[in-house]
Amino acid sequence: MNIQYTPTTCPYCGCGCGFNLVSVDGKLKGVEPWKRNPVNEGKLCPKGNFSYEFVHREDRLTTPLIKKGGEFVEATWDEALDLVASKITEMKEANAEQLAFLSSARCTNEDNYAFQKFVRTVIGTNNVDHCARLCHGPSVAGLAQTFGSGAMTNSLESCAHADVVFLIGTNTLEQYPLMWRRALQAKEKGAKIMVADPRFTPSAKQADLYIPFKSGTDVALLNSMMNVIIAEGLEDKEFIENRTKDFEELKAMVQKYPPEEVEKITGVPADLIKEAAIMYAKADSAALLFSMGITQHTVGTENVMSTSNLAMLTGNIGKPGTGVNPLRGQNNVQGACDMGALPVVYPGYQAVIDEQLGEKMQTSWGCGDLSCAPGLTVVEMMHAAHDGDIKGMYIMGENPMVSDPDLQHVEAALNNLDFLVVQDIFLTETAALADVVLPAYSWAEKDGTFTSTERRVQYIRKAVDGPGETRDDWEIVSDIATRMGSDLFKFNSAQEIFEEIRSVTPQYAGMNQERLSKPEALHWPCPDEEHPGTPILHAERFATPDGLGVFKAIEFKPPAETPDEEYPFILTTGRMLFHWHTGSMTRRSKTLDREVPTGFVEINPEDAAKLGIKNKEMVKVKTRRGEIEVPAKVTADIIQGTVFIPFHFAECAANMLTSGDALDPFAKMPELKVSAASVEKLE
Ligand code: SF4
Repeated sequence: MNIQYTPTTCPYCGCGCGFNLVSVDGKLKGVEPWKRNPVNEGKLCPKGNFSYEFVHREDRLTTPLIKKGGEFVEATWDEALDLVASKITEMKEANAEQLAFLSSARCTNEDNYAFQKFVRTVIGTNNVDHCARLCHGPSVAGLAQTFGSGAMTNSLESCAHADVVFLIGTNTLEQYPLMWRRALQAKEKGAKIMVADPRFTPSAKQADLYIPFKSGTDVALLNSMMNVIIAEGLEDKEFIENRTKDFEELKAMVQKYPPEEVEKITGVPADLIKEAAIMYAKADSAALLFSMGITQHTVGTENVMSTSNLAMLTGNIGKPGTGVNPLRGQNNVQGACDMGALPVVYPGYQAVIDEQLGEKMQTSWGCGDLSCAPGLTVVEMMHAAHDGDIKGMYIMGENPMVSDPDLQHVEAALNNLDFLVVQDIFLTETAALADVVLPAYSWAEKDGTFTSTERRVQYIRKAVDGPGETRDDWEIVSDIATRMGSDLFKFNSAQEIFEEIRSVTPQYAGMNQERLSKPEALHWPCPDEEHPGTPILHAERFATPDGLGVFKAIEFKPPAETPDEEYPFILTTGRMLFHWHTGSMTRRSKTLDREVPTGFVEINPEDAAKLGIKNKEMVKVKTRRGEIEVPAKVTADIIQGTVFIPFHFAECAANMLTSGDALDPFAKMPELKVSAASVEKLE
């Protein structure tokens, strides 16, 4: 019997926990703690504990598939790749801008790097994006404007040193359990936890101060807290004077948000706003955490900038226990962004519109002219496909048929394509619509790196062989590029790709194999091999050109859709402890699936009573986009007038109801957290 322990990194949330995958005679049997890993110190949440269960499923894709006469037929790699290469070449020669590419936050940095390099150097477009658009696009856009760098400012461990931990729009206990552990460590030392959320989430239940507010009113709430802080003279005058600019504009603007007026917008009693503001401002160190409750709005970028305003106003930046900390969703969403799987930047956030940077990348890659026109974002791609302006799409490791807003529209868009390629590990709802399906390794079958939400770059390591004829994602992409005539993809290993990544990505330049092999790995920026990495950003200066943080005077704007007589509820969507995103992996884990086998709609008991709805009864939830039938979960954990549906479940998909019409003007984020909805009991 051959037993192996392979240290690797979790494939689910952005915490980036490490553990050992245990294999016996080439089959995964479980996980064991990896106590030296500093992220989680041997602890895991249920998703990490059972992360191995989907890997050997019988419904894994094992061979390439080509659709013929509406049915999938097994094909050889040569048949499938020749078909993909020839179709994409033909379409590129007609018009490269009619092709669009979705990269993946589940794949490694090496996969994402190869994918965007393929799109830019072989196809000649910047039409490449991924699901960061639908989670933390506004974090990148907002923090870049206020701090000059669009990433989490502090490490996870730093949170344990806070005196106040302020969670707004994040159910950290369920979504980032090992980050929540750090908040609890702070609490054990006497810190207070404040939670602002429309739902009385498990995180809110453990808070010292809970601030229930109407979804979509974040800016009003934060402005009002700043109003109180300035009125009480609690702002950090020295920090404002020495480290920031444009404070007077902010100060004048927040005067318009006294708590008594903001109570009418947010539903939060004025006294509670004052208490929250004073608690946050009086802390020696206050850490602000947020996730998609802040970002998934048409004002998502402005919400993010408001969190920056609050932190700068109180000097809570650049030291342990402070910071503005967007908790990035997927395991490698930070890395996919860092690698340039975005329509406006090359690796390292180097803007495609900057011709000098374009020339630098051309020299590094040894390629011809690169396009400096920004590409389409995820939602724009779907609109363009729907309208016939995008004719071909290549999706690596994403499942927009569950994750994207307005699924009827997404399905019509994908069906309208002339050619769709999907590369994945299962025949997902999206792969089922493809013309060609390419089977890839899962995370347990490959080497590479993930970059966690705290900018820590860590190895994943191959524990077992992939089933059937599966291959590495980067290898498949490189093979297609080579078949299309490129000689820029002669990679033999993930390590070779990483060497190229660090040569073109300034933040990764100092990360060599020896340094990354240590359990603590490295936080970017790490500009050279002597640099220790940067767990806490902005300690001395911000990453803006003049080194100053920028206050943004932001007025409250209501959501794109508000309740009315026909659709009287606010529908908000989100995640839960036992499942992950579109459920393609967690719903194939028998242990996790047993915990929560299907979706539900949370509704307040007062609202349910008015509609004659009892717990577990089937109801119809309807918006202007569509309707679903789903069991009711009657609970006082949600405020009246708001209902909540988790988005993991294709059979009662929350995104049948959400809208992709109105978008955040900076980050092109749709209003996933607020839809006007009706609820009725099904007879
Ligand atoms: Fe994995 Fe996140 Fe759970 Fe850690 S907290 S085990 S990274 S899902």
